[in-house]
Amino acid sequence: MITDTIKKFVSRLFSPAARGPQRITSDKHGIDRRNVSRHAIKVCEVLRQHGYQAYIVGGAVRDLIVGLEPKDFDVATNATPEQIRPLFRRARIIGRRFQLVHVVFGQEIIETSTFRAPASQDQETDEHGRILRDNVFGSQEQDAARRDFTMNALYYDPHTEEVIDYHQGVHDLKKRQVRMIGDPATRYREDPVRMLRAVRFAAKLNGSIDPAARQPIETMASLIENVPASRLFDEMLKLLTCGHAMDCLRQLRADGLHHGLLPLLDVVLEQPGGERFVELALERTDSRVRAGKSISPSFLFAALLWQQVESRWKQLRERGEHNIPALVQAADSVLDEQTEKLAIQRRFSSDMREIWFMQPRFERRMGKTIYRMIEQPRFRAACDFLQLRAAAGEFDSVLAQWWMDLANGNDATRADMIEELAHLPRDPAESSGPRKRRRRPRRPAAQRDQA
Ligand code: ATP
Ligand code: MG
Repeated sequence: MITDTIKKFVSRLFSPAARGPQRITSDKHGIDRRNVSRHAIKVCEVLRQHGYQAYIVGGAVRDLIVGLEPKDFDVATNATPEQIRPLFRRARIIGRRFQLVHVVFGQEIIETSTFRAPASQDQETDEHGRILRDNVFGSQEQDAARRDFTMNALYYDPHTEEVIDYHQGVHDLKKRQVRMIGDPATRYREDPVRMLRAVRFAAKLNGSIDPAARQPIETMASLIENVPASRLFDEMLKLLTCGHAMDCLRQLRADGLHHGLLPLLDVVLEQPGGERFVELALERTDSRVRAGKSISPSFLFAALLWQQVESRWKQLRERGEHNIPALVQAADSVLDEQTEKLAIQRRFSSDMREIWFMQPRFERRMGKTIYRMIEQPRFRAACDFLQLRAAAGEFDSVLAQWWMDLANGNDATRADMIEELAHLPRDPAESSGPRKRRRRPRRPAAQRDQA
């Protein structure tokens, strides 16, 4: 009896909760304070001066520890939004369900949120267990427990330069292992997007998903379907622009997750022959992200869906549709299908259409139309897109280069280039286009209507 009591006491004494969080000093976690946003430090300092706790938290701490440059900085505090706002000159409360504060410094926004309590029994969920409301303030320890992976639950205190770690996140991070806080299956049910996040972080860190977190994904992947399309779009965009999109997709495929997880991925990964094009598009995106350059989501999605558009375009032409109407119809049907699941926002989809619709116009070089093309707002993007097609071997590379030179040239060079065209012997390959297919005579309308 006595030994049992002692055992229980000892085990409680050494359980992680009883031990409290680890406080990891800068010589161990290795964060160089010079890489921390001074605005985020400022927010923490001001809150501290007013008697609150405040820490930099989440992705920024994770990235700093492994030597990556954080995209943005978030702060977590025990002050409520109403207490935070008056402490800063430019701060606004945002969000309805769970309010947080945006503290604005010029271009930089420091998202400052109050410690949140994790999911509880009486939390409102949908019939699959997905949490619909998550809006109770809590303690720092509770805030840590509701985060997804151990490496995302680290708190950096700019004042002491310590990292506060409740879940051995620094240890996992150094091993580059994505480990779930709590029971993985439960946490995926609460929020299926966490499956995509696990894949993304593993690829980004060149690491792996801990087997316990990896194992339930395959059987739970279909839960992704219940996530609102707009949220899925945001998460998908993060995955594609994390600088390791190709690794993410390889990982998804290796894990058997490319089926059904997202319709876009099915399209992208299952396409016979389309792989090279997608690979080129993603490699280009990855290297732009790693070089700190901007990414255009429209261009990226236009590239990912191009093979599908092309094959439908071809089918329609073979059925006798005219070139351009066939392309418009193909684009519409592909976009309709994707939008249902993935809420590609209108501002992106209209750019995508412009990029696609410009493609057939590159096949012929005629002075008057060239000037009109140059004036189109998406001319540059469409031209970049043409380079991808050339690299994938589906467009003449010399002709693609000519268009690129035109895009890069000033008015005088452009005029010279167009003028020269008039003196060139007519190139039969070009007038018929490098990928010209013989156009079948259009069937009479009556016949088409019967089909
Ligand atoms: P990124 O580099 O993409 O910004 P991140 O980890 O900062 O990565 P965010 O989506 O910005 O990701 O989220 C910030 C933090 O909020 C995460 O680090 C994590 O602690 C928490 N978080 C985000 N999404 C979830 C989620 N679905 N479930 C639980 N915690 C989450
Ligand atoms: Mg972030």
